[in-house]
Amino acid sequence: MILTLLHTQDDGSLPKAALETVSAAISLAQETGAELKVGIIGNDAAGAANAISACGASAFLTVSAPEVVSPRYATDAAAAAALIKASGAEIILAPGTSRFARCLPGAAFRAGAQADTHVVSVKAEGGKVVAQRWFYRQRILGSFTRNATPWLLMIDSGVYEPFSAAPGMAAATEVAVEFGTEQKTKFSGIEAPAADAQTIRPDAQLLFVAGAGWTKKQKDGQTHVGEAGGLIQGFLKLAKASLGSSKSIVDLQSEGQEALTFITHMNQVGQTGSTPRHAKGLSTCCHGEEPHVVGWRFINERRAVNLDPNCGWAQGKADVLYVADAFEVMSKVNEMLQA
Ligand SMILES: Cc1cc2nc3c(=O)[nH]c(=O)nc-3n(C[C@H](O)[C@H](O)[C@H](O)COP(=O)(O)OP(=O)(O)OC[C@H]3O[C@@H](n4cnc5c(N)ncnc54)[C@H](O)[C@@H]3O)c2cc1C
Repeated sequence: MILTLLHTQDDGSLPKAALETVSAAISLAQETGAELKVGIIGNDAAGAANAISACGASAFLTVSAPEVVSPRYATDAAAAAALIKASGAEIILAPGTSRFARCLPGAAFRAGAQADTHVVSVKAEGGKVVAQRWFYRQRILGSFTRNATPWLLMIDSGVYEPFSAAPGMAAATEVAVEFGTEQKTKFSGIEAPAADAQTIRPDAQLLFVAGAGWTKKQKDGQTHVGEAGGLIQGFLKLAKASLGSSKSIVDLQSEGQEALTFITHMNQVGQTGSTPRHAKGLSTCCHGEEPHVVGWRFINERRAVNLDPNCGWAQGKADVLYVADAFEVMSKVNEMLQA
């Protein structure tokens, strides 16, 4: 039996990563012939069950008590463990959201389950369930299986198509969970940066990478860091792109140079940074060295703007290299986007 374990968002809807996990669970259930159940935690879990009632599950189990309306490790872990136990599932697929990344290892321990994270594929092979994940900074793709059950697999976002079907009536069953000391931690609210300040947008179509060239002396012998910041932030706003960076541009800040303060190590892409997934990538003023480009593994269509025709992007790392001044290119692009 397969359980797809999900959580709702504040407004009661399911996040995209949850809908992708539903697709993974449906295809695994079809391949193995196993029964599929759904477990949902959070605000209006029954409403979310209705939204995916057409997924073919034989049962929808929910925990929607006030204690799990807001994310909190202890209550989420208790609720997830209760759903795993109540379902009797051998395989549990859950989205690798930040809420679940915090609580599911604890839930797996309580339910006696083995857990694996960052799974990018799960399918039936030779009568076994075989999962895949990347190792060694996304350089080696490993396939593995486990004999132990229950086996909980957290699915990375961006791999499966989100499940979509007309809503219906799921007739969900609420699972009672007794919360006690789990409520010691009080949820007092969310402090979120303004939408514009949030530059890392995993769901964006485009990754825009800023390299150290933006802060270097330009053809007039001067740096133009203020102008660079305006062009980059202007483009992010207009194109709704996600902002990545090279290591050099973030390191400049700790070296006391004039730098772009809205770029932090969180934006760094590469061997010692992140490996984001986006349909397209545009690199600007970044040399395209291997330790950076290794982070572009999951960027499908790649373009770069660099003054140097011999930069790394020209060595087969980009589909298109514009040998041009990124200040001029991006100011023209922003002008066109604004028009
Ligand atoms: C163990 C190890 C791990 C590392 N991990 C990472 C990592 O995770 N991520 C990472 O990014 N790096 C990493 N690095 C560093 C990496 O090797 C490079 O040093 C770094 O990526 C260079 O950054 P950059 O291309 O922005 O800067 P630079 O190499 O300084 O390149 C700047 C580029 O800007 C161009 N330029 C300047 N002005 C303009 C203009 N007006 N228009 C267009 N182009 C212009 C220049 O031609 C130049 O190519 C790692 C290195 C090591 C040794």
